This record gives sequence, C-alpha cells and structure tokens, in this order.
Amino acid sequence: MSSQFTLDQIQLQLDRFPPEQKTRSLQAWDAADELLIRYAQQHLASADTPVLVVNDQFGTLACALHHFAPVQWSDSYISQLATQHNLQQNGLSPVQQVASTEACPDFVAVLLKLPGNHSFLRYQLRQLKQHLPDGAPLIAAAKAKDIHANLLQIFAEEIGSVSASLTEKKCRLITAVCDKKLPVPTRPQFPLTWPVELPTPQGPVTLQIINHANVFAREQLDVGARFFLQHLPQVQSGQRVIDLGCGNGVIGLAVLATEPQAHLLFCDESFMAVQSAKDNVNACFPTATRCEFLADDSLSQQADLSADYILCNPPFHQQQAVTDHIAWQMFADARRVLKIGGRLRIVCNRHLGYGEKLTRLFGGCIHVASNAKFSVFEAIRRK
Ligand code: SAM
Repeated sequence: MSSQFTLDQIQLQLDRFPPEQKTRSLQAWDAADELLIRYAQQHLASADTPVLVVNDQFGTLACALHHFAPVQWSDSYISQLATQHNLQQNGLSPVQQVASTEACPDFVAVLLKLPGNHSFLRYQLRQLKQHLPDGAPLIAAAKAKDIHANLLQIFAEEIGSVSASLTEKKCRLITAVCDKKLPVPTRPQFPLTWPVELPTPQGPVTLQIINHANVFAREQLDVGARFFLQHLPQVQSGQRVIDLGCGNGVIGLAVLATEPQAHLLFCDESFMAVQSAKDNVNACFPTATRCEFLADDSLSQQADLSADYILCNPPFHQQQAVTDHIAWQMFADARRVLKIGGRLRIVCNRHLGYGEKLTRLFGGCIHVASNAKFSVFEAIRRK
C-alpha cells in the first residue's frame, strides 16, 4: 500500500524503502521536499535542465520534478533503490543516479535536502560550488529546528551570503548565493584520517584509517565497534567472511590483521562507507587480494548458503528515524546467506534485546561477552 502525495497539480504514489517496512506511518516525503518542489515550480523554467537533486531520500524530488530531467546525487544505495521503485510505480522513466563518491554532475539548478551530517554537507557544498556560476543561488531545505546559526555559517563559508525563509509547516528554505571570490575553507579536509589500534594474537597493530565525509563514526572509533574488536572470532584461512554494514571497514580490517588471506566481503548501503573500506584495505593490506566491496541493501545481492562468518555492528536508525527493522533485515538475510554451520556474530546495545531476536530466528544464540553498555552474541545456522 502506497501513500498518496498531492501538491498543487502533482499527484504521486510514494513509498519509503524497503516497501514492506512495517512503520507505515512514516511518509516518503516531508514539508522540506514540498518547499523545494514549489520553489522549482515557481522559479525554474521548463528549459532549466538538468536539475541536480541532492540527498533525495526516497525519490520524491526525482518523481515530482521529473519534467526537469533531474539528476540525483546521493550517498545512499537504498535511496537509489527507493527512487527506482517510486519512479516505476508512477509510470515515470528512470533518472540519472550518481553516487556521492563520483564527481558532482553538471547541472543548471541545484536543490539540496539537508543531510544529517555537517561534514558531509561541507563536502557536498564544496563540490557543488565548483559548478555554480558566480552569483547563482544554491537552494536547500530542512526542518526549521535544524537551521541554526552554525548551520548557516557553513553555507556562508562554503558558498557565499546566505538567508533563510520564514517557517512553513516546520520547514524552511535556505538560499546561498555563490561568491567565487570567497576562499575555499582549508578545514576540515576530506577524507579524515586517524589511527586505530587493532588486537591480534601477536599483539596490537596500529593502522591509519581513512574516512570519507559521510561514513559512520568518521571522526573516531565507534564505542560498540571498540568492544566488538575485543571479541572477534578466529577466522580460518579460506573462509568467506562478510563485514555487514562495514562503515570504514574497521571490523573486516581486524580480521585481515590476523588472517590476511581471508576472503572478505565489505558491504554497506553508503557509497562513502564502501569507498572508505576499499581505501583502507588497499592502504593497510595491499597484499590482501581476496577482498570484495559492494554497495547493497543488507545482503540482497548475496547467494544463499555462501558465507562462513558474518560480522555485524548493526545500525539502529534510518537517516533520522530510530528503527530496528534494518537490524532485523540484516539478521534474517544473514541466516539465509550463511552456510549450514556458518555463524553470525553481532555487537549491540544491551537494552535492545537482539539476543532474543537471534534466538527466534536461529533457534538459539550464544552470549559471547558484555560490558556495561554492549553485548556480543553469536548465532549458528543449524539447518
Ligand atoms: N561496521 C562499522 C563500525 O563498526 O564502525 C559501521 C557500523 S554502523 C553502526 C552501521 C552501518 O550499517 C553503517 O555504516 C550504515 O551505513 C550501514 N547500513 C545501514 N543500513 C544498511 C543497509 N540496509 N544495508 C547495508 N548497510 C546498511
């Protein structure tokens, strides 16, 4: 069942993604999308193509502004899937979709949904500015509660003079006018690099970790990951291991530090995460030739019965919405993809009750370790 989106003359059926998600009360769009669509209708001419739509989460902008030949630029593989799904169910032809790790495409006008992460915003604004003519506006939209002096300062430093509209349905438009004379800020420089200590049977090794602007825990090691690193399994040479939701790849890197010939798949729905993991393996383990890197929605592209071990520090939100549906999807996919006797090991916040979830799915679950905040569990595929 889809939700009906109606704005002026535009009528669309729009789903969040994955479509079977149980949280049906969440819509695929918000008032910030509506502000951007109205802006385009009122200020852009039909010849103003292509329009670059940035961070279009479920394809609302691509569908509603289809007549402007929209090009999507985003860090989310799931957003790309959601867009394809929504275009198709509304009988609209595919649009060009460009990953955040690729160069910013050319455009005539740009409409940006504010990302949750200010590092990523800076990265995107810096790229966009290279394509904006002097004096051209960059239009962004966001919830009013997210628009504060610090945020406007980022637009002012990266693009030029900035103003925000009055609040409408709790959202506002931001207009930043490109000033080519403005110097490009020297900090922060992307990607961010910092050292991480990984335990191995021979003692700790320190690696420099590369983090692209939108990767999870880009500024320091996640506390859950830090605990997980102390409780990773011993992987055998030749086993196929998956680092599911790999982020910068730190969990898989720890496997490679003890078993460089492990056959490792790093997968994540964020293009910048997959790129970070790839850069880290290439820089830290140049002789590890059995690694693969994939943008995927959980393990949707993996064959049944194809992995020996799956390691996962699961996400507990999708963009700003707190949810356990992704963790649930990852566990169910892991069960399908593991060989008989294969194992899923996870780290999670103690209060989330993921041990019970694994027991329900796998018919049992081993408690590996806990501290005050986190637990590590392992489930074995028995049949
Ligand atoms: N493994 C890294 C670590 O421990 O630092 C990152 C863990 S972070 C808690 C969860 C990761 O899952 C994020 O990198 C996020 O982009 C990714 N993710 C979220 N939803 C996903 C999905 N549907 N499919 C694949 N990865 C997803």
